[in-house]
Amino acid sequence: MKQCPVCGHQNSHNEMRCPECGRFYSKIIELIDELATEEENASVAGRWKRFLATSDKKQALYHEWLQFKSGLSFQAKLSLWMIFVFVFALIVTVL
Ligand SMILES: [Zn+2]
Repeated sequence: MKQCPVCGHQNSHNEMRCPECGRFYSKIIELIDELATEEENASVAGRWKRFLATSDKKQALYHEWLQFKSGLSFQAKLSLWMIFVFVFALIVTVL
């Protein structure tokens, strides 16, 4: 007999997660599940699946575009910062 640490539901079956609240009994299984979910969310297939699952395609596409744009601008900012530091270091060493 296992007891759920979250809702206290008594589980007589040998299940891995609570049938009441969906909480995993084992921390490791919970972690694996979290990683798998994260990986699926990050992968193209997972994104595509989520995109197909949403009813509002326009909104989903807009959201994906925003994510893409924010990722791009961060990289652009980073490379600009690197160039700035490089030029600054060059000027300092010359002077
Ligand atoms: Zn529970």
